[in-house]
Amino acid sequence: MKNVLFVASECTPFIKTGGLGDVVGSLPQALKKHEKMDVRVILPMYDEIPAKWREQMTFQVSFHVPLGWRNQEASLYSLEHNDIIYYFISNDYYFTRKGVYGYYDDGERFIFFCRAVMEAIPHLDFTPEILHGHDWQAGIAVALAKIMQPVEDMKTVFTIHNIKYQGKMPLDMYEEFFNLPNEHLGGLEWNGVINCMKAGLFHSDKITTVSPSYAEEIKYPYFGEGLDPIIHQRSEDVVGVINGIDTDDFNPRKDPYIAVNYRHSRVKKKENKIILQEQLGLPIDGDKPLYVMITRLVEQKGIHLLEPILDQFMQEDVQFVVLGTGDPEFESFFYFAGDRYPEKLVAKLSFDEGLARQLYAAADFFLMPSQFEPCGLSQLIALQYKTVPIVRETGGLKDTVTPFNEITGEGNGFSFTNYNAHDLLSVLRYSLFIYNDTTKWQQLLKNVNKSQFSWKDSAHDYSRIYEQLITEPIKG
Ligand code: ADP
Repeated sequence: MKNVLFVASECTPFIKTGGLGDVVGSLPQALKKHEKMDVRVILPMYDEIPAKWREQMTFQVSFHVPLGWRNQEASLYSLEHNDIIYYFISNDYYFTRKGVYGYYDDGERFIFFCRAVMEAIPHLDFTPEILHGHDWQAGIAVALAKIMQPVEDMKTVFTIHNIKYQGKMPLDMYEEFFNLPNEHLGGLEWNGVINCMKAGLFHSDKITTVSPSYAEEIKYPYFGEGLDPIIHQRSEDVVGVINGIDTDDFNPRKDPYIAVNYRHSRVKKKENKIILQEQLGLPIDGDKPLYVMITRLVEQKGIHLLEPILDQFMQEDVQFVVLGTGDPEFESFFYFAGDRYPEKLVAKLSFDEGLARQLYAAADFFLMPSQFEPCGLSQLIALQYKTVPIVRETGGLKDTVTPFNEITGEGNGFSFTNYNAHDLLSVLRYSLFIYNDTTKWQQLLKNVNKSQFSWKDSAHDYSRIYEQLITEPIKG
C-alpha cells in the first residue's frame, strides 16, 4: 500500500471555490478504491468550513511554526470521512477570516500553511512516501519537502490546476519568512519575485497537470503565464492526466439537490426545467431550449466573447441562466442583461451548490467558451446530467468534448476553435438548429449518454506515477 499526503488549499465537502476543491475531494477516494492506496489530505482550517465538519474534528497536537523571527502557533486536527483521513491546520490569525482567498497577505498565509505541514508530518500517524502538492498554495510545501526532508527519501509530485495563479510576493519575504540559507532562494525566485508555483515546479520530482492538451499548451508563452521556460526545462517530467468526477456525488439519479431525480435511463429534464423556471420567474415551458453557465466570472471563462453577441443571441427563442461570482465588470454585465431580458435571462450572482445542481439537471446546454481551460470539470458534470456542452477547443475542453458531426452522427457537444465572438454566436445558433431537429438531437443525446468521466483510469495513471517515483533509484 502506498502512502500519499495531499497538500491543498481546498477540498470538498469541507471547502470549495472551484474545480480544485472537487479534484482534491474525489481523487483520494478513487485512489483508495481502485488502487488500494492510503491517501490523506492536509488542509488549512478555515473558519468558512461548516460547523457540521468542525464539530467532528479531533484535536491532535499543537506546535510552533518558525516564520523568520516569529513563532506562530498551529494546531493539528483530524477527521475521517468516507474512509479517508483529513488533517487540518488551524491558526488564529491566518485562517479565521471570511472566505478563502483574496487577502493582501495570501502569500504569507500559504507560506505559513506549507511550513506548518513540515512541522505536522512527524506528528501524523502515517509516514508519507509521496507528498503531492496542488497548485501554488502548496508549492512551498513541495519545495520545503525537498529542502528539509521531513521524511527520508520522501518523493514529491506537484499538480498544476491552473498556471495563471502563481502566488507571487516580494523577494524580501525570503529573509523575513523562510529561515533558509541563501542558496535556496534561486529555486523559489522567478523574475525578481518569490513565486510559489515556480517553487513547486522547480523542486518536485514529477509535475502533472490536469489534461494532456494543457500539458502541451503551457510550454508556450500564450498559456504559460511566464512560467513556460520552466515547463520547457522540465518537460520530460511533465505529464497530463485528465480529471475525473465523483460519479456517486454528481449522480442525477440520487442527487438530493435536484427536484426530480432521473430514473434509470429516464432523463427528467423537462420536469426539472419547469420547476426551475417557476423558481426563477421565467416563463414556464418545458420545451424551451435552456442554456446555462455556472462559473467563476473571470476573464479565463470567455465572458468577453459573450459581451458583443449576447443581444443577438437573445433574439432567439431561448432562455439563459447564469450562476456565478467574480469580477464586478462581468457581474454587472450579466446583472444588466437580466434587466433587459426579464423573460429570457436570469443572472444569479452568488455561489450556490444547490442551484448549480438544479441547473445542471434542468438545462439543455452548458456554455463554456473559455479562453483557456486546464481541464474543466463543469463540462464533465454537465455531461453527467445529460446536458450538452458548448465549448471552445482548448485544454481539457478539447480533450473531453468532441463536436457533433451530422454526417457521421458522432460527437458529444459543440465547439469552436478561435477565440472569436462571432464563432461563438455561430455555434450557439447551430446548437439551436440541432435542438430543433428531433432525429439529430436524439443522436447527440445518445452520444452524451455514453460520455463517462469517472476517476478509474486517471487514478490508475496517478498510481503508476507514484509507483515509478517510489521504485526509481535516487537521483545522483
Ligand atoms: P474552475 O476550477 O476554473 O473554477 P471547473 O470547471 O474546473 O472551473 O470547476 C468549477 C466547479 O465549481 C464546478 O463544480 C462548478 O459547478 C462549480 N461552480 C463554479 N461557480 C459556481 C457557483 N457560482 N455556484 C456553485 N458552483 C459553482
